Amino acid sequence: MGQLYIDGAWADAAEGGTREIRSPADGHLVAEVSEATAKDTERAIGAARAAFDDGRWSNVPAAERGLLLLRVADLLQRDRDRLARAETDDTGKRVVESEIDMDDITNCFRWFGHLAAAADGRLVETGVPDARSKVVHEPVGVCSLITPWNYPLLQTAWKVAPALGAGCTFVLKPSELTPHTAIILMELLAEAGVPDGVANLVLGAGATAGGPLSTDPRVDLVSFTGGLATGKVLMANAAATVKKVALELGGKNPFVCFADADHETAVDNILTGIFLHSGQVCSAGARLVVEETAHDRIVDDLVERARRIRLGGPDEEGTETGALISEAHRDKVEAYVARGVAEGAVLRCGGERPTEERLANGWFYPPTILDRCTRDMSVVHDESFGPVLTVETFTDLDEAVAIGNDTEYGLSGAVFSADTGVCEEVAARLRHGTVWINDFGPYVPAAEWGGYGHSGVGRELGRAGLAEYQETKHIWTNTRPGPTGWFPSSTSTPGSGS
Ligand code: NAD
Repeated sequence: MGQLYIDGAWADAAEGGTREIRSPADGHLVAEVSEATAKDTERAIGAARAAFDDGRWSNVPAAERGLLLLRVADLLQRDRDRLARAETDDTGKRVVESEIDMDDITNCFRWFGHLAAAADGRLVETGVPDARSKVVHEPVGVCSLITPWNYPLLQTAWKVAPALGAGCTFVLKPSELTPHTAIILMELLAEAGVPDGVANLVLGAGATAGGPLSTDPRVDLVSFTGGLATGKVLMANAAATVKKVALELGGKNPFVCFADADHETAVDNILTGIFLHSGQVCSAGARLVVEETAHDRIVDDLVERARRIRLGGPDEEGTETGALISEAHRDKVEAYVARGVAEGAVLRCGGERPTEERLANGWFYPPTILDRCTRDMSVVHDESFGPVLTVETFTDLDEAVAIGNDTEYGLSGAVFSADTGVCEEVAARLRHGTVWINDFGPYVPAAEWGGYGHSGVGRELGRAGLAEYQETKHIWTNTRPGPTGWFPSSTSTPGSGS
């Protein structure tokens, strides 16, 4: 049974709770894992606090911390197959997708390994002859790392690697639906030599197991990836003890397509942008904003190709995309589509649960296109986090940008056109953390990831991804100390008569 990992030891939940993890693809029992309560999480926070305060990790030279991350990267590659299988069992995604994730995760550890090892401060010119001034970076302290179910280990790696690289200690809580790769990661961290108490894992539901992660005064930083509503709760909780927060929240990401874009390339990228992993992607291109003159040929082709996408379990021959994560999530997506139709959107394909017998035990929902949407509809603003594309049209560049920015979110967007100047202008004017030009989806660990507006606070990956886990300190040294002379000395006090 998957257990909690606290202070270097595997443990059952204090109150003996357990949870069944079931495959979203066919409902089979994947495993049983411990279900923590606040008591376990408080113990884990205590372990992380003690490990931070005695310097067992923060005092390790940055170069050695970096080397350890590189060792973890090697172990991730050694255990790639086991990890990919575990991710697939929990999420229902195809094994090949999980394998790609494992390679991305390895690269993430490598990036932060090199970045941490190269960490340095800087000398600052003081303008004063006998003073030296330097700025150094120190670890923030104890971090709560809270992650979602769609890319379980990937989102975890984006936090664990920089936290360790910076010298922090942490308590990790993965989604209660997808705990397995986090459990394996703890094994690998221990094997790589992370000292006891530095990396701790609690498993369980957000409000119970997760509760203390944003309220306990011993925590210095809450780093969260998940939904907007949860993010707001955590930010409010963190305010009471002025914790730092790093939030990666949702998105409703515009895919702006001009009529002169290469047709095949655009259609193909729109399809992948929204239907990869059945739309359960924070940066999914869920909002197509297409030039009116190209609307019919683009949407007709999209509909024709979307209908052909084959749903199935991860081990079924020919599967192109998998199930949604849970029954509750499928209900949410269904309700979203019904709302769109009620608001006047035209349902062009999908919109109904599949009826095939082979899909009956999984939470499948087909690629769905809601056409002729308008800016006043709630479905063009809300994130469905499922395989649902909304389609709006524009007639000129200003209108395309206005629609693309008409969202409370600001995570990512794309522009497709044969005109480089048009692409550059749209990219410059979109208020989103990542903009792709004539492409959709790629990211690299060396480039920052994060959102404007309600898509979050702070950045992951890149240099800023390490900085989230660091405090900045200024140290001033007077090399020729002496009295300041600001107040008169005792021998020359005014009124003493001397
Ligand atoms: P969620 O907010 O329901 O849960 C995320 C995590 O928070 C889970 O581990 C959950 O148990 C935990 N949690 C919930 N309440 C908590 C509480 N009170 N205290 C502590 N922890 C708590 O999100 P989800 O459904 O797992 O993930 C889907 C969402 O994640 C989508 O909105 C998606 O856009 C977002 N997401 C964003 C990014 C990004 O990079 N911006 C990446 C992936 C997913």
